[in-house]
Amino acid sequence: MLRIAIQSKGRLNEESLSLLQDIGIEVDAPKRKLLSKSQTFPLEALYLRDDDIPHVVAGGTATLGIVGLNELEERGADVDILARLGFGACRLSLAVPKGEDYEGPAWFSGRRIATSYPNILRKYLDDKGIDAKIEVITGSVEIGPAIGIADAIFDIVSSGGTLVSNGLKEVERVFESEAVLISNDNLSEEEEKLLAEMMFRFESVKVSRGKKYILMNIPRASVEEAIRILPAMRSPTVLPLAAEGWCSLHSVVNASDLWEKIRQLKAIGAEGILVLGVDKIIP
Ligand code: ATP
Ligand code: MG
Repeated sequence: MLRIAIQSKGRLNEESLSLLQDIGIEVDAPKRKLLSKSQTFPLEALYLRDDDIPHVVAGGTATLGIVGLNELEERGADVDILARLGFGACRLSLAVPKGEDYEGPAWFSGRRIATSYPNILRKYLDDKGIDAKIEVITGSVEIGPAIGIADAIFDIVSSGGTLVSNGLKEVERVFESEAVLISNDNLSEEEEKLLAEMMFRFESVKVSRGKKYILMNIPRASVEEAIRILPAMRSPTVLPLAAEGWCSLHSVVNASDLWEKIRQLKAIGAEGILVLGVDKIIP
């Protein structure tokens, strides 16, 4: 049985669980339980604080884990990164009080920087040859300058709203993060097999993201043109309609191209265009 470490509550919890659900693995949400066994796949979820996930996976207490790349980088655990998951996007940035004249990283020399990510920050400062003092605080880093314990901060930014409301401005983007799936690098043959099945399902969900299934009626004479507009995985499906001279055409398109394709298809006589969501694609 596989065991996956998931954040018990917080920004990654919900999307981690819905990712498992998308690949057919149902687990109970973490109420007061630390462990929850799935009834639909040989896997149990272990609910933890995100800080603990890298080491629990590295040490083998959990086979897999879902955690922010920022946490993983900071803690330096020895695990394999199996996939980027496309949620929990954020970055680690340096920010200074908005009134400061900031002209480059040399500004930080001799200053105090508050952060919960001392290792990533230390590496950045060392790379730039900057000698600054790192003040480690575990919460509410953004109030550091206002209460006088630091001159600047190094913290997670997503929209930047928190910085603005604390009178700070982002000046250096240091590290881009998103949630990643990690695994212990020493799995048994059985575990490898289960993991391969999970990864196969996971790929099919990932491929289907942002895809739409489109079907329409089209005059027989426009089919060649429509096939050029709509390249599908192999080629679009064309079915004859009972009405003379008409076909039904089915294909899969990127959601981002959808409206442009619809415009082109209408121009060559497509009618009754139907667009549906795609749940899974098995190539
Ligand atoms: P825990 O109680 O599990 O230690 P936490 O307070 O450390 O939780 P959260 O705030 O829930 O952590 O954030 C978890 C992860 O979500 C972060 O490490 C980061 O990878 C990601 N994340 C994405 N956007 C943001 C954001 N705007 N603020 C904080 N974290 C974000
Ligand atoms: Mg945490």
